[in-house]
Amino acid sequence: MKIGFIGLGNMGAPMAANLVKAGHQVTGFDVAGVRVEGVIQAAGAADAARGQDAVITMLPNGAILTSVYAEIVPVGEKGAVFIDCSTVDVDSARAAHETATKAGLLSVDAPVSGGVGGAAAGTLTFMAGGSEEAFAKAKPLFDIMGQKAVHCGGPGAGQAAKICNNMLLGISMIGTCEAFALADKLGLDRQALFDVVSTSSGACWSVNTYCPAPGVGPKSPADNDYKPGFAAELMLKDLKLSQQAASSAGAPTPMGARATEIYEEFASGYGKGKDFSAVLPWLTEKGRA
Ligand code: NAD
Repeated sequence: MKIGFIGLGNMGAPMAANLVKAGHQVTGFDVAGVRVEGVIQAAGAADAARGQDAVITMLPNGAILTSVYAEIVPVGEKGAVFIDCSTVDVDSARAAHETATKAGLLSVDAPVSGGVGGAAAGTLTFMAGGSEEAFAKAKPLFDIMGQKAVHCGGPGAGQAAKICNNMLLGISMIGTCEAFALADKLGLDRQALFDVVSTSSGACWSVNTYCPAPGVGPKSPADNDYKPGFAAELMLKDLKLSQQAASSAGAPTPMGARATEIYEEFASGYGKGKDFSAVLPWLTEKGRA
């Protein structure tokens, strides 16, 4: 396939590199002038999108996505598939679909999980929204850049799945950290707490797979001085998107709202540049107010 790739940052660059490795012709553009080996350098976003079978965007937010789509949709080849892999708000994602489909393009919102490691290894999970036809056309590319692609529903369904999952993750990580901090104060050994909870009703991904206590459970960022992993700032971004969506849809999310406030405080201080699981040492240091 001939593929345009716009946004060659921490995630986009390794994803584009994997498409090149798989034998596709990739033309890329990033405002920061990033170059990726094997990717043909375009002079601008429209240049990267013109005449391609597929165009992938991997950008920081919804406002940038909207402005990039305004440039690239008019030059898109009829029938080409436009795939947005950025994490953005549901409203911007739906607006991007509308612009693209009106212009005769196929459109998929396909945010990812798996982080920079998953992008480099080609093991991302794609959560996709859009028509069956658009998903089918994008699927071979998902299979190169990732290990799983779930078609979640119509336009915006991929973004919706991503923020619902990450809101739950933010809440469960804070709960997990609170449980360990309370155990400390009660003189309960962290390993003993893990042994009980990981096989009891409190079990969850934050405890069993990504335990925030160093030396306990499988290896996680806690065992690497809380280097991200999944940075606190990115968790905050996703929590804010969940609250924006909840407010626009009228959904009650009291725990999501509280988790957003907590990560707001954490990410701007103690948690700056750290993994989102460093809420545990933050709480232990803070003590009870
Ligand atoms: P990043 O900031 O490293 O990359 C974004 C790139 O977009 C930058 O290189 C920037 O120069 C470029 N860009 C900005 N405006 C542009 C424009 N108008 N035209 C062309 N390029 C432009 O961010 P990232 O970590 O690669 O994340 C990208 C997206 O993926 C974000 O939406 C993020 O939330 C999501 N995401 C990131 C991770 C992660 O672990 N990093 C995990 C899952 C999802």
